[in-house]
Amino acid sequence: MGDMYGLLGRKLGHSFSPRIHAELGGYEYALFEREPEEVEEFLRRGGFKGINVTIPYKQTVMPFCAELSTAAEKIGSVNTIVRREDGSLYGHNTDYDGFMYMIKTSGVSVAGKKALVLGDGGAAKTVRAVLAGLGAGEIVTISRRGENNYTNLDRHADAALIVNATPVGMYPEVDAAAVNLSVFPKCKAVLDLIYNPAHTKLLLQAESLGMAAVNGLGMLVEQARCASELFTDRTIPESETARVTAVIAASTMNIALIGMPGCGKSTVGGELAARLGRRLVDMDGEIVKRAGKTIPEIFAQDGEEEFRRLETAVLADISRESGLVIATGGGVVTRPENLPLLRRNSRVVLLERPIDDLPTDGRPLSQKYTPSQLAIARAPLYNSWKEIAVRVTDPVETAEKVIKELKI
Ligand code: NAP
Repeated sequence: MGDMYGLLGRKLGHSFSPRIHAELGGYEYALFEREPEEVEEFLRRGGFKGINVTIPYKQTVMPFCAELSTAAEKIGSVNTIVRREDGSLYGHNTDYDGFMYMIKTSGVSVAGKKALVLGDGGAAKTVRAVLAGLGAGEIVTISRRGENNYTNLDRHADAALIVNATPVGMYPEVDAAAVNLSVFPKCKAVLDLIYNPAHTKLLLQAESLGMAAVNGLGMLVEQARCASELFTDRTIPESETARVTAVIAASTMNIALIGMPGCGKSTVGGELAARLGRRLVDMDGEIVKRAGKTIPEIFAQDGEEEFRRLETAVLADISRESGLVIATGGGVVTRPENLPLLRRNSRVVLLERPIDDLPTDGRPLSQKYTPSQLAIARAPLYNSWKEIAVRVTDPVETAEKVIKELKI
């Protein structure tokens, strides 16, 4: 265990860190889930060479470090520990570099601007230190317990930048947002430290209001790159952060296939799932399971409205997950509320197939409308919902094209 690296925390099930460190350094990176009473012994006895520290131990570990970096001391928390030759521990904080990177890549200029920081925990301290270092005009902390809280947000309607440093909106509680952004008409950008889901409810609202919206994945990777440099005593180019961020986003986000009924979503989805080692979720199949009857039966007995309601409920559940291939139903685009559910954690791929090649048998809406009638009504929706479009040829070739276009 002497050369071992890893992450110390309490609950680490959904951590992206092992994958990030595998990309950065190729060394073994383990998850050390410890209860509070086990932390001291782990730090004293553990044979690790370097570790990252996460919730809830970023402060707990500080007294066990023989030396702290200036950043760790200033921020008051440690997210990286290196065991030195003599066995003593050196504590540092690379979240600072991570948030600095997040600001830089967002293109937001901070100097002189009023910023709101949501939350008053460890991450908020780091955020405030970076914003102050960049000369932000006024930095206001919104805390449930503070003078500036969620009941008087209108005091700060002039904020230009909002940073979410609370866990509100994080998987699995994805339906929550710490604030409603309509209170902030002057806000230009929202930075959310959360990275799972890729687009929190807060970020989706920011996008819909025309604000820049950035998630915390780049920050997570940059703090890991800086930690990895310390662990391995070598320089890793900053360009690695963008590369690894793209790799992690590609492997953790779902691939959602949309398109006309019969365009090949299930077949191409099956091929993608097999090639990428992912689970295929066929939404029509999930709806049938939930309703306990076939789709023609749902349409005949309960009507299309009920089918659409079920479809949205199924999508709301599936869209919490990561790394799936999702074959949607052709009509998923007919309900606007399905778009944020898809965008939450999925890359949306439109499969295009010539109308004359689309089958019609057994599909309730295809009995009512011809494929061209459906296509005319839906084409604008498919086009505005998609991230990329791929023309369907045979399933193997089509799956290959999707993988290539999404750079997976
Ligand atoms: P934390 O200390 O557990 O929580 C931060 C603060 O959020 C709390 O002090 C609290 O502030 C507020 N808060 C907690 N639950 C809330 C709720 N239900 N409603 C409203 N406010 C609530 O966590 P942290 O370490 O600072 O991390 C905060 C978030 O940033 C987490 O989601 C974490 O995953 C993320 N993060 C991301 C990165 C990255 O690299 N992307 C790095 C660090 C942290 P008040 O009690 O003052 O309201």
